[in-house]
Amino acid sequence: MTLVRRGIVTALWRMDDYVDWILLRPVTVQLFSFLPRWWQCELAKLSERLDERWKTGVWNIQLDPNVNERLIVGPVCDACRKRASSVTVGPMGEGGDTEGHEQGFFDTHEIGLCSWCAPEFRDEGIESEADLQKELERVRDRTVSWRWS
Ligand SMILES: [Zn+2]
Repeated sequence: MTLVRRGIVTALWRMDDYVDWILLRPVTVQLFSFLPRWWQCELAKLSERLDERWKTGVWNIQLDPNVNERLIVGPVCDACRKRASSVTVGPMGEGGDTEGHEQGFFDTHEIGLCSWCAPEFRDEGIESEADLQKELERVRDRTVSWRWS
């Protein structure tokens, strides 16, 4: 039974990847930008919920050998405001290396970014909410546009 459940969780996650490949492209998001809400990895979220319920462990990814982390499909991306976020930029967690660390904007602010916006986002020079909004707008212009990739 566990093997069947792992197969279902994995299949839903893979199907989500295929759907994402088309629906999350900059041009597709741009084309349907008039809609108030867009595809936010619903198949992946279902897969994640089933994984949690059935304890299949499919969503447990060993990102760091010392930390057992879990991938998550987060709330809507703060930059494009259309895709689901998968990365957070924000306060250093407990146990973070704060020695010699200068207090910065992201020590007190947290944002979520999707896999399209995260690589475009530059946190250097952001010291205020206005700086942040300007950078999020720049990123949105790049990732929701009439281009394929
Ligand atoms: Zn985004």
